[in-house]
Amino acid sequence: MPQGEKRLETRDPASNKRERSVHPELASQLLESLGAGKEQEDPPDAPGAAHAILRDAIRERATDVHLDPDSRGLNVRLRIDGAMRDAAVLPPQQGHRLINQLKTLGGIDPVAQFDAGEARFAFQHEAGEVDLRLAFIPCLHGQKLTLRVLDPRQLAYGIDELGLCDRNLRRVQHWFTSLGGMFLVAGPVGSGKTTTLYALLHALKLQTCSVSTLEDPIEYNVDGINQVQVDEEHDLTFARGIRALARHNPDVILVGELRDPSTALAAYGAAALGRTILATLHSRDAAGAVTSLRYYGLSDRDIATTLSMVVAQRLVRKLCAKCRRATSPTDAQKRWFDVIQVALPERSWEPVGCDHCRQSGYFGQTGVFEVWQLDDGDYHRLLDGATERDVRSSLASRSHKHFLADAMEKAEAGVTTLAEVQRLRLAGLAFPAGAE
Ligand SMILES: [Zn+2]
Repeated sequence: MPQGEKRLETRDPASNKRERSVHPELASQLLESLGAGKEQEDPPDAPGAAHAILRDAIRERATDVHLDPDSRGLNVRLRIDGAMRDAAVLPPQQGHRLINQLKTLGGIDPVAQFDAGEARFAFQHEAGEVDLRLAFIPCLHGQKLTLRVLDPRQLAYGIDELGLCDRNLRRVQHWFTSLGGMFLVAGPVGSGKTTTLYALLHALKLQTCSVSTLEDPIEYNVDGINQVQVDEEHDLTFARGIRALARHNPDVILVGELRDPSTALAAYGAAALGRTILATLHSRDAAGAVTSLRYYGLSDRDIATTLSMVVAQRLVRKLCAKCRRATSPTDAQKRWFDVIQVALPERSWEPVGCDHCRQSGYFGQTGVFEVWQLDDGDYHRLLDGATERDVRSSLASRSHKHFLADAMEKAEAGVTTLAEVQRLRLAGLAFPAGAE
């Protein structure tokens, strides 16, 4: 046996592992419901532990609950403010029981262990109701189950609470005074687009105009607005829905997402007829929206004549205001930011951890934004077939704030950390020095 292999064999594999720290306070109700043989007193089909973990998740503002089986048992993990946190490791028997209870709540037969599947159900708690989307799949050590928690309270923000700087907020508010064309909220999955879209909806509701939405799913009920659920099984697609709604003469149609050519073309068609379209779109920044629209089949003229505003965004975690600490950028950070030609502030901030933030150092998330309001110059540039790159350098040459600049302002002000700005992985984006 070669020397190298022998060395590998004799090493204790555990000594190389970095254990993640577990925070049982995140699952206190679950652990209490399972503790001291309490569970044995319950009838076998009582959902005690399942209800307890749901209450834990809602209390901790978790957006997802992951139940991940491995050789030790079932890992209970919560995604809070975008970051995964370990809450407990349950013995296999208890873990199995918890998964079965959750599947039963979702109307799934817990006996079938070898299928993957999904379900949706609602859960009533002290402060209201949340919608849950459950998915499960068999893994090496048992079933993995994931729950998406859709808490309507997360979609109740006003546009002044999203994290827009004063200037960007004024531009968005100004857009409301004129309306018209397509207003796109751009970013990848999990960048807070839906929250922004709903904030726009709450603001529109206050105006004297008729607003309809097409959503999949309807995540939050807004009174005073006509909300339509997309139903592809019955051929009520985004594209058909837009055309059907247009016949009801609305001023504004909110489309959950432009995700294929037929939806994008239907949205353009409605905008060309004078409706205002609000929609989300996948693109890496504001200029990237132009490429996405072209990819979906819109011509340069279609885009130039209807695109009126693009808000591109990402989310960063907010420092816990009760324990954050001022510090200086590290040498590694200085080098990292130097490569992308971004000047660092003298002072930055770091997370510490306290009871309020469950030792994470962060509490809540905020958006970082880029707001592009198209002007006459953009209209002509797009008509002339300007590329995404042309648009980006045109934006950089005028008083346009790139969202990396917005993120840096938030890091300097102690709203977030440089580490969070780095986590955005924006290094690949064009960000000419001195653009701001
Ligand atoms: Zn704290």
